Amino acid sequence: MSGSRARGRARSRARQSGGSSGASPVRSAGARPADPCPCGSGRTFADCCESVLDGEAAPTAEALMRSRYTAFAVGDEDHIFRTWHPRTRPEGPYCHPGTRWLGLTVHECVGGSPLAADGEEAVVEFTARFEAVDGRGGTAFDALRERSTFVKRAGRWLYVDGEQL
Ligand SMILES: [Zn+2]
Repeated sequence: MSGSRARGRARSRARQSGGSSGASPVRSAGARPADPCPCGSGRTFADCCESVLDGEAAPTAEALMRSRYTAFAVGDEDHIFRTWHPRTRPEGPYCHPGTRWLGLTVHECVGGSPLAADGEEAVVEFTARFEAVDGRGGTAFDALRERSTFVKRAGRWLYVDGEQL
C-alpha cells in the first residue's frame, strides 16, 4: 500500500525510531505484545506481525502485506522502507500524522507461498480503512482498496506496487 491517497500530508515528524537499538518507542506505544494485532488477524501482536516488524522474513506475501499494514498503523517507518522494493520505493516519510488506520480486510491472495523461489511474484488484494484529517479540522472516514504486487528477492517478500481499485 502506498498510502498516497491518505490525506493530511502535514509536516513530517522527526524520526522517532533510532534504527539500531531495541524496540522503537513508536511501535511499543502503538501495539503491545498482548494486544490484538492491528492487522486484524485475530491473533496477538506478539503472535502475528511483531516478529516481522522486528526484521524476521515474512513467510508469505500475505504476512508481509499484513505486517506493512501494521507498520502504517503503528508508525514503523523503518519496516515500510525495508520491505519496499528499492526500484519502486518513494522517498519517505510514509506515515502521515493525520491518518489513523482502523482495520484491514484481505480479499484475495494469488501465490506468495513460503515455497516461492526468488523472482516469483504474488498478488494480494485488500481493503484498508482509515480516518484522516480533512483539512478543515474534522475527520473523514475512507477506505483504500488495492491489488498489491509482491516479489520474492533474496528469500524475502517485498512490496513492489499496487493498483488502487
Ligand atoms: Zn498482524
